Amino acid sequence: MEKFAKSGDFCPNEACPDYRKLQDGPQQNIKKIGKTPKGVQRYQCKTCSQTFTETTGTIFYRKRTPEHEILETLALLAEGSRISSLSRAKGHKEDTILAWLREAAQHAAQLEEVLLADFRVKRGQLDALWSYVGHKGEKKAMPKPK
Ligand SMILES: [Zn+2]
Repeated sequence: MEKFAKSGDFCPNEACPDYRKLQDGPQQNIKKIGKTPKGVQRYQCKTCSQTFTETTGTIFYRKRTPEHEILETLALLAEGSRISSLSRAKGHKEDTILAWLREAAQHAAQLEEVLLADFRVKRGQLDALWSYVGHKGEKKAMPKPK
């Protein structure tokens, strides 16, 4: 039976030899590396050196596409790439990319830290990204035509 994995229990990097291996007994490739300014635990995989936080590792855990790839696609979107061009360039359906974006917007607070820190997306670009799928956050959004 598959147990529910939490972030920090596995490496989310698909290219890593220890990808998704749960920390158990001799399998100890994940270390804690302090917290983000908002107090979210950060982790690093000792095998591949990729860093991630306690929240981001789980959001896309059950997706077939690795989280890093999803986040990179979202970062490119935030930087102004069109969904149609990203779809062609990366080989994901436009619907799939939109679904990631919607899901990401629901976890905007957690993902923002990673996108800002690890993908060098700018704050204003993130706001535009979330508003694209109607996620308003704390800010007032433009009224949308029905
Ligand atoms: Zn790794």
